[in-house]
Amino acid sequence: MADSDVNQPQWQVGLAAIDITPEEPIRMGGYGSRVKPSVGVLDPLQAKAVVLEWPGGDQGLLITTDLIGIDAGFADTCLETIGRQTGLSRRQIILNSSHTHAGPIFGVRYQQCWDLTEAEIGVITRYNAKLCECLGTVAAAALADLRPAELSWARGSASFAMNRRRPTSHGVQNAPNPRGYVDRSVPVLRIAEPDGRLRGVILNYACHNTTLGGTNFMISSNYAGFAQRYVEARKSGVQAMFLMGCGADANPYPRGTYGLAREHGQVLGAEVCRLLEEDWQTFEPVRGPLRIAFDHVDLPLEPQPEPEELDTMRKGGGYYAGVAERIQKRIDTGRPWATHYRTPIAVWQFGNDLTLVRLSGEVVSDYVPLCEQAIGPLNLWVAGYCADYFGYLPSARVHREGGYEARDFITGFGYLAESVEGVVIGKVRELARQAGRDCT
Ligand SMILES: [Zn+2]
Repeated sequence: MADSDVNQPQWQVGLAAIDITPEEPIRMGGYGSRVKPSVGVLDPLQAKAVVLEWPGGDQGLLITTDLIGIDAGFADTCLETIGRQTGLSRRQIILNSSHTHAGPIFGVRYQQCWDLTEAEIGVITRYNAKLCECLGTVAAAALADLRPAELSWARGSASFAMNRRRPTSHGVQNAPNPRGYVDRSVPVLRIAEPDGRLRGVILNYACHNTTLGGTNFMISSNYAGFAQRYVEARKSGVQAMFLMGCGADANPYPRGTYGLAREHGQVLGAEVCRLLEEDWQTFEPVRGPLRIAFDHVDLPLEPQPEPEELDTMRKGGGYYAGVAERIQKRIDTGRPWATHYRTPIAVWQFGNDLTLVRLSGEVVSDYVPLCEQAIGPLNLWVAGYCADYFGYLPSARVHREGGYEARDFITGFGYLAESVEGVVIGKVRELARQAGRDCT
């Protein structure tokens, strides 16, 4: 650093990682067809933390996890633990998950969605305790690692994300649709020493972490884990973190084997390395201060389903019959049908250089252009799959078209209404302004 820069404000950044691989066979999240525990570990699961701080701004903590998603109830417990260990409050913390479908069932919400034995619940309870402690530990370690750093941001592209909403004569089916929209961009936040040496990267892709399918019983971080390890293997000492974007209506293509999971990870990791090595001029500096605008948003729900609809679902059998049963259980409680579901939402504004929108749930790809239209397309980074992991967040278009992502029953609550898009985007606009983004 030159002498003249000594008094210039700069980032303090801390990084840390921790292993969160289950230590015993455990039921696996993501595919309802799997009814027995895991039989081994293909590759480790990790939680990684980064703490960001700029003089006069907010301190922010981002934790990324090789997990399916962190539900609201479990997030509460984890945020309390993290708060005790770091002094940080929930408004300062983002918990993102890679949505691997080769990881454990965990948290609290699973109890409403899965049929498990006492022994299987015991395994999950033990894993919950370990995971919560690990998230506290990794957050504290990142805080203890704070030191001067420089941030910059660029976007590349990877092509294996495929829209999975195929229009057919009998409605939208969950199958590859080469004509459908996906966000294939690869946003990368580069974290460097003041002398320019690389310390870490946060890489972002918007695609279900489902290269491994429902016949896999081995624990794996899936393509997102391979991408992180690809970068870390080529950049000694660097921490690569995977942030999941708005990939709820995208699947990797093709998919189904461990070899393909490795291949997709390599494609993504290689694109990050290419940006870092050959295209480094495209990285634009990201300065502070960090301004965090955090709130909850009330997602509007549809009215209580009619008995005829439930009958049709029961007749359909399988997944939909199970949902009908959950809805009936909710109706049988006699409590009034909820009008909304409340979930956290935030905007992180990095000086005048970058905006990170943090959305909850499984967010469909339409929310990227929708956010661009609402608050301007430049220097905009949109993350989905942040805790609260409640189910799918459809756009109005997806809601109208129907299909798997359109109506996902939020257990204990209901189906999100078509108007949810306007409510979410309205809140994004409000928070972006509050955080200081120039939205004109
Ligand atoms: Zn999903």
